[in-house]
Order: sequence, then structure tokens, then C-alpha cells
Amino acid sequence: MKLTTKILLGLLAGIIVGLLFTGSPELIKTFVAPIGTLFLNLIKMIIVPLVFSSLIVGAASTGDAKTLGRIGGKTMVYYLLTTAIAIVIGLFLGGVLQPGAGLTIPVGVEVAQQEAPSLVDTFLNIIPSNPLKGLVEGNMLQIITFALFLGIGLTSLPEEKGRPFLNFFDSLAEIMYKITAFIMELAPYGVFGLMAPVVASNGPAVLLPLIKVIAAVYIGCIVHALVVYAPAVKLLGKMNPITFFKGVMPAAVTAFTTSSSSGTLPITIKSVKENLGVSDKIASFVLPLGATINMDGTALYQGVCALFVAQAYGITLTMPQLVTIVLTATLGSIGTAGVPGAGMIMLTIVLNSVGLPLEGIALIAGIDRVLDMARTCINVVGDTSAAVVVAASENEIDVPCSNIV
Ligand code: ASP
Repeated sequence: MKLTTKILLGLLAGIIVGLLFTGSPELIKTFVAPIGTLFLNLIKMIIVPLVFSSLIVGAASTGDAKTLGRIGGKTMVYYLLTTAIAIVIGLFLGGVLQPGAGLTIPVGVEVAQQEAPSLVDTFLNIIPSNPLKGLVEGNMLQIITFALFLGIGLTSLPEEKGRPFLNFFDSLAEIMYKITAFIMELAPYGVFGLMAPVVASNGPAVLLPLIKVIAAVYIGCIVHALVVYAPAVKLLGKMNPITFFKGVMPAAVTAFTTSSSSGTLPITIKSVKENLGVSDKIASFVLPLGATINMDGTALYQGVCALFVAQAYGITLTMPQLVTIVLTATLGSIGTAGVPGAGMIMLTIVLNSVGLPLEGIALIAGIDRVLDMARTCINVVGDTSAAVVVAASENEIDVPCSNIV
């Protein structure tokens, strides 16, 4: 049986077992959840060394700062554009489906408010004043910046001086890929272990009252994949969209169950290189960057949630306010960490930007995990579509003939 099929079966088994135990999630939490945590810890173990080494090698292999700038420019334009489209889709669906209409706000609900970092701080923090601290703390944006500087610096050294450093990180990256392959074999069990507790503790009773928000976010994610990624990979990436979606399936399912784009990264890189033929150079640059700054699903979710909160409080948003939401959520998604729940914290920035009551988040908090799964899945698929598009434009894709449209 193929690994993708096995992972999908793990997902299905997790849903079924979770549904069977909705009344008593404790059993699942004690016996099944540790399998999921073990799987997640295994992936987390390799993220920092993987991102660091593969970005240094990726940046160095572009040859010079100019090429890197060109690839980086294309990647950023694609990321920002698709993120902005995602929010517009979110706002549109929020307007059409009216998820917050007729909802009564529970009075006196206290929100455990977490402080969202300001946008200025996020941008200032991109440059690490102490890169080793960034590495130890797993601060992805800082790790990326430092790795890129090292990679660029490396290209300007004479061959004999740079070679040992490059060889070391090249080996390290290859070892991390090997470990990824090993962890992937465990993915079906890990996915099962992650899925069952989520379903068991979010039974129908929790989900039904807010079913319209869930529907808006899930439909939005599917629409975004079909109207943005499918045409993009077909027209710009010259790849059959079905081949594309099939190829990224292991990463998509892992993202769905782990709710973490950073946590999925090793599997994302593996799927894109092996199933879609994207070169090492592009995959190791575009994907770590995307897992950290490109969050289409999160942006879409924020669009839906902003309208949901506005409707629940009977507030009508004006056109300039909608534009403010698009801009804030696009920039905010850059500062959203690829970890579970980060998008909800950043939602405070979006609500704040147009003066919507932050208490509205209390309504969403209970179902956020279920929304997180869909948005993380789209976050990751968005990164992979960028890898295909940028790789095709750089002639860095090696698709088997049968896959070419
Ligand atoms: N969990 C998401 C991710 O890792 C971020 C979010 O919470 O929106 O991509």
C-alpha cells in the first residue's frame, strides 16, 4: 500500500475512533494522544537543523546574491498576492454565509487575552541580535535571516575557503532528509494519534452551534485551492493540478492533523522534491520561508472571523475598514508563527485595526482547533504551489513527462 493511502487511512481511523469516544475523551487522551505527541516531537526534533542547513545550502547554491534576490522577489510577490486573495475570499464568504448573524453574545465571557506582537516589532525582530539565541529558541524568522546571510556570504568566498563549511551543512541537510523519511513511515500512526483526541474532545455538541463559521472557513479553503492554486500550478507551473494535489497529499494531511506548518515542514520538503520534482535549491529556499511567513489559510480565516465578530455584535463594516482588514491580515500573516493557535492570537491585531470587540474571539476559541486544521492545511499547500511556480519559472523542475499538462 502507498504511504499516502496509509496516512489517509490513519486519518479516517482517527476520526472514527474519536467519534466513538466523544463522551469520554479521557481514555483517548491517556492512551492515544501520546502516539500523536511522539510523532510531533519527532518532527519538531529535526526542524531547526533542517531549516538552518537546507537554507544555507539553498542560498549558497543559487550562486550569487542577484539570483537569490530574483528568486526571493518572485516568491514574495506570489506569497503576498495569494494571501491577499485569500482574505478577500474569506471576507466574501463571511458576507454571503453570515456566520455571525442572529448569534447571541454570551455576556461576561472572559477571554484569556494573549498579547499579540505589534507589526513593527515583528519586522524589527527579523534580524537576530544574537543568532545563537534565535537558533536555541527556534525563532524561525531569525533562523531564516541568519541562514540566508551565511549562504550569501559563502558564495563570495574563494572555493577552498567555503567548501568545508558548505560540505558540513550539505551533509547535515542530507541527514535530516534521511531522518524525515524514517519519520514519514510512522506518519499513519502519528496522524491517527493526533486526530482521535481532536475529534473526541470536539464532538458534535461543541461544533454544531458554530457550524456556519466552520463551513465558511472550510468552503473558503477549498475555493482558494481550486481558484488560486490549481490555475497557478497549471498556467505558471505547467503541472497537472491533479498531480499537484496528489503529490502534496502527505504534507496536507500532516498539516491538517498537526495544525503546524513549521511542524509539517520536513514532510512538505520531501513531498515537493520527490513527488513534484522541484529542485533542492528551490524547495529548500521557498518552503522554509513559506512555512514561516506565508499563511493563506490563516488570512482567509481572519477574514471570515472579522465578519463573524462584526455580525455577532451587529456592526456593519465600511469599505475602507474592509481594505484595512486585507492589509493588516496580509502583513499579520507574515508575523504569524507556524504553530497551533498562532492565527487566533494574530486575529486580535486584525480586530483591533478596525475597532471590533476582542471579546468576539471568545466565541471562536472553543472551535479554533478545528478551524486551525483547515487553515494550516491551506497554509502548507500554498507554500508548495509557490515552490512549483517559482521552480518552473527558473527551470528548476524535473517533472516526469506524464505529469506535464
Ligand atoms: N497553525 C497555523 C500554522 O501553523 C497558524 C495559525 O494558527 O493560523 O500554519
